[in-house]
Amino acid sequence: MKIKFRDLSIQYETIKHEIDKSIAEVVSSSNFILGPQVSELEGKLAEYVGMKHCISCASGTDALVLSLMGWGIGKGDAVFVPDFTYIASASSAMLCGATIVLVDVEEKTFNIDPVALEKAITKTVENGKLNPKVIIPVDLFGLPADHVSIRKIADRYSLKVLEDGAQGFGGMIGDRRACSFGDVGITSFFPAKPFGCYGDGGAIFTNDDEFSDTIRSLRANGHVKDDKYDNVVVGFNSRLDTLQAAVLLAKFDNFKYKEIIDVNKVAAYYTKFLKDVVITPTIPEGYLSSWAQYTILLKNEVERNGLKEYLASKDIPSMVYYPKGIHQQTVIKKAGFNVGEYPNTEKLIQRCLSLPLYPYMTEEEVFCVIKVVKEYLKFGEI
Ligand SMILES: *Cc1c(COP(=O)(O)O)cnc(C)c1O
Repeated sequence: MKIKFRDLSIQYETIKHEIDKSIAEVVSSSNFILGPQVSELEGKLAEYVGMKHCISCASGTDALVLSLMGWGIGKGDAVFVPDFTYIASASSAMLCGATIVLVDVEEKTFNIDPVALEKAITKTVENGKLNPKVIIPVDLFGLPADHVSIRKIADRYSLKVLEDGAQGFGGMIGDRRACSFGDVGITSFFPAKPFGCYGDGGAIFTNDDEFSDTIRSLRANGHVKDDKYDNVVVGFNSRLDTLQAAVLLAKFDNFKYKEIIDVNKVAAYYTKFLKDVVITPTIPEGYLSSWAQYTILLKNEVERNGLKEYLASKDIPSMVYYPKGIHQQTVIKKAGFNVGEYPNTEKLIQRCLSLPLYPYMTEEEVFCVIKVVKEYLKFGEI
């Protein structure tokens, strides 16, 4: 049995007819840039997420940069970012000229720690050198961050919240969807993300009409609505290709009604059989994860690396997400940021291991991974 880390080909085989038809329609119409599929997709996703506007763009990274540009974030501004995440959550703010303030995460959820966040904000206020402006909570591995606490903190210090839902699309807290918890939310359609296209893509969600117009203008070189040749702001070119919108449209119902449910079944199966052996992911009461990754924690780095090698020897791929905190990245050190202490990141980078996971994994495949993990940890037969 050859297990893949995330198999995208089974999904294609499952809905091949819809996808092929959708792509062919775009090709025969030649409407490659901002064709009708783009606004159709934006309408559907805005409704699903529960925000008034969805503005698609060329990637999740661009979605972050565009949002910060839309607020005019730049030099002298402080942007609060979790230390344990993908680099784009932090580098987007640096691209805008802002200063990032890194915040430790919770060991249990891997998401930004509200207590550490408030400390970082008060410290920044006391220092008086930067203007605290934005919090970028990340819904890491598919699990929404503690947006209830984050909202309270944001209100207390008059900060904006930019929810980085690149890995979290489809997740929920109560009856609310990921990408709706911030003043602005973003997602990524990178192929391996929970809702992926066949290339790069991203989207921005907001309830603010004026902000939505600003983003639409920024993603199209600063064009204004009715006059393509009067540009009022400096923007850049970041649109979602019609082809990618068509692929996402063809995938959407399947994602919404099937994949999000199936991937949770796969994750539940892992948890059932691994919870006594390793530390399995914590999903707080009332939360739904969209499971971008299934990440377990081992005792220490030696055990983690050993398990990774043992799995590989049995042809089972696994990944270390993430081997470094943002504060340990060369680019961050070069930028001379005065980094603080991140004890939970330090623990997680040594102990984390992400196992193969996708909605189409069979019970047999999951069972095979479980068996090899137990074998390595000498838990014997299951
Ligand atoms: C993937 C990712 C991004 C960037 O998305 P791209 O579409 O790859 O540019 C941003 N933030 C997080 C947390 C991500 O995982």
